[in-house]
Amino acid sequence: MGRAAGVLVVQRISAGLVEGNQVTGALKLFPEKGEAHDALLSMPADAIAGKIAELVLAIAGKEPLLALGVGFPGIIRDGVIEESPNLQQIKGFRLQNALEQILADGGARVPVRIFNDADATAAGIAATRGVLHKVNRVWTLGNGVGFGRYPWTEGTWEGGHTVVTLDPKEQFCGCGGRGHLEGFLGYRAMRMRFLDLEPEEVFANAKTGDQRCADFVSRCHRALAAATATSIHMEGPGPFYLTGPNAKWIDVGVLDRLVHEMVKMSPLQGTRIEVIPPSDELGIIGAAVNAELSTRSA
Ligand SMILES: [Zn+2]
Repeated sequence: MGRAAGVLVVQRISAGLVEGNQVTGALKLFPEKGEAHDALLSMPADAIAGKIAELVLAIAGKEPLLALGVGFPGIIRDGVIEESPNLQQIKGFRLQNALEQILADGGARVPVRIFNDADATAAGIAATRGVLHKVNRVWTLGNGVGFGRYPWTEGTWEGGHTVVTLDPKEQFCGCGGRGHLEGFLGYRAMRMRFLDLEPEEVFANAKTGDQRCADFVSRCHRALAAATATSIHMEGPGPFYLTGPNAKWIDVGVLDRLVHEMVKMSPLQGTRIEVIPPSDELGIIGAAVNAELSTRSA
């Protein structure tokens, strides 16, 4: 087994070398820890590609790479970023071609593959737990709500925008669509809903008996259970993982009970839900593993 490189682009770019389903050596970051964390927002698409390539060349040294996998937020198809809500300037950008070109100019001929960041995280979880033979699904709870799955499969998979209510007043999702899961659990959506409280305060107040906050926290759990149940009804049971900065707010016991209330057919039983602490490394490993698998079968 050789070396591949993995990159995860979320609020910053993190790059690492991956060998045997683990990161070897130190990660390279841009911006570095302690620097302004919104540097990517104002960077043009080709400058982002240039920065990714620079980090990859720095970690690779003189040894060849089998593949480079990049986990990127948004809808990705054939190496093109078709939509990326938080990095609008990169919409339509051919990131795969751009990276292969810049790396070749730097003396490294490396096949590049681009994946949705949550798909990369799902692959990283599957690889590090030795469950690459199962369908693994992951919800990433942060500013938005990401949905990832492993094995990687052609498709859109915008699970964070699953419709979980018919209430027309539910319109806090970042995409503008009504009744979406992200309209409950996205950090940005929560701030819009509670103009007088930060999301951290909402979850803290719910614990101390504030009825308005407790009702909302309960509806968050029902919304996530509903989206999970829909995924089970479409693709069958299997492990679900919760990660990202806000996964800590979910009570897995409550979520599990709600999912079991919503999924009753016996062949669809057996789903297990687990919280995994957020880590860039899982996305880096998963992007590299997915890229290696994809270039091997090409
Ligand atoms: Zn939406």
